[in-house]
Amino acid sequence: MKTMEATHLLKTYRDVVARLQNEAAVPTADAASSDFLDLAQSVEHQELARLTATRLAERAKRLHTALTRMADGEYEVCSECGTSIPRKRLLAIPDATTCVACQEQLERAGS
Ligand SMILES: [Zn+2]
Repeated sequence: MKTMEATHLLKTYRDVVARLQNEAAVPTADAASSDFLDLAQSVEHQELARLTATRLAERAKRLHTALTRMADGEYEVCSECGTSIPRKRLLAIPDATTCVACQEQLERAGS
């Protein structure tokens, strides 16, 4: 399958994985540092990097699921109701696995 959605999904997945590797490469705090402010800032930065990495990892996981669905020929099919997901939605949210209506229903059920 060589559609615009497929190319977009793959590219997004590669971007996320590359960013994840960048975030993981953030140097660890220098615990021997005598300057408390430096250390505090460094820890804060690390915390932020960790949060970003967690979010990226979750995104990568969702994108990977989408890639698996694509391999199964189910990428454009809503996992909830089975109708096809609009191309515009897949280009906006490459890791979407449901149509808009089902997504809204899931969000309502989850909150
Ligand atoms: Zn649906």
